[in-house]
Amino acid sequence: MDLIIRNAKLRDKKELYDLGIENGKFTQIETTIKDEGKQEIDAGGNLVIPPFIESHVHLDSALTVGNPRFNESGTLLDGIAIWGEYKEGITKERIKATAKETILWEMANGVLRIRTHADSTEPNLLTVQALLELKEEMRDYVDIQVVAFPQDGILAHPQSAELLEKAVKMGADVIGGIPQVEFTREDGIRSIEIVFELAQKYEKLIDIHTDETSDDQSRFAEVIAKHAVLSGMEGMVTASHTTAMHNYDNDYAAKLIGLLKRAEINIITNPASNALLQNRLDGYPRRRGHTRVDELLHAGVNVSIGNDNIMDPFGPLGKGSMLQSANLLIHTAHLSGSNLIPKVFDLITINGAKTLNLTDYGIELGNQADLVILDAKDEYEALRLLSEAIYVVRKGRVVVETKVAEREITLGSETVTVDFKR
Ligand SMILES: [Zn+2]
Repeated sequence: MDLIIRNAKLRDKKELYDLGIENGKFTQIETTIKDEGKQEIDAGGNLVIPPFIESHVHLDSALTVGNPRFNESGTLLDGIAIWGEYKEGITKERIKATAKETILWEMANGVLRIRTHADSTEPNLLTVQALLELKEEMRDYVDIQVVAFPQDGILAHPQSAELLEKAVKMGADVIGGIPQVEFTREDGIRSIEIVFELAQKYEKLIDIHTDETSDDQSRFAEVIAKHAVLSGMEGMVTASHTTAMHNYDNDYAAKLIGLLKRAEINIITNPASNALLQNRLDGYPRRRGHTRVDELLHAGVNVSIGNDNIMDPFGPLGKGSMLQSANLLIHTAHLSGSNLIPKVFDLITINGAKTLNLTDYGIELGNQADLVILDAKDEYEALRLLSEAIYVVRKGRVVVETKVAEREITLGSETVTVDFKR
């Protein structure tokens, strides 16, 4: 056996397990594997999980914060304007350099599946080109889906529709949209129709920036649900953000959630960016821009989490940690029940896999041997401590090894260590 992980705590099992890996796949999962591995790692009872899934990030804008200027107002519209200024001087090399650095951050945090949006309104499509090239260059280490994302709208600019189709022809995996920035409600609906027409023509998934506004009159999620059902694309369509849902009246929200469930729409919430960008004009009381995660989960809708913006004009902080975004969501979405906290862990693992339509994901016999050993005994501890990924394994090979911090406190003649664990 090429690699054996000993004493792994798996999420749904009480006993510890040994995981045997050969030729990049899980070949044995037993309480004790008698064979010896060429390489062995003792997980020591720590939680071992399939890799985290980054459901929604913008690798093209990541790490550009302050360039050419900082987003002082913090609004989404100013973020789009600053990103537009940055794009004017863009080069493929510069996008690839910052995007690659961000990918390495995500890998170090245990993320090996990423769905990135690539702005497809840039006339030379350098952003799309750059991210598609990176996807190929990094494929031994991380799986990347690229969304062709018409940042400034499909109908609001004359070239956008053509550029979007060109981006799809270049190899984008997923087709995006942003109906709420089109000129009118009617254009927003038409833009969704265009996305579905392209998706069916090129057999692609769909992930639309949907109702990413505080405006409770922004109601495009229902249109997306309708087209998912009409086109038989149930399960293949994602509505990212849906922050306006926070502000809908409860009767409409209840109807909408039923439609989303019926159409098997995946919802992605981006806790950090949504909290920062939405309801900026509220004054007080200040509503928060989060979709209704508890109600969606209760209704059986698939919800996953994205970091969205990592040090860019839309979100100045972030380090590519799914645990950080999940921790934030627990607080902002009131998901602190004893059975809810472990469930939030699904939003950055198996639910993300469903959103991305992934097969071959999970610690199961025959699957690709991708895993993360966390410095935590369970999901609760990982979410509380934002635990380090001690080892990250890709296709049976260790790609990340992290030395966990050791803290010593001197109390007179006594020295004690602290690791925050209980
Ligand atoms: Zn986004």
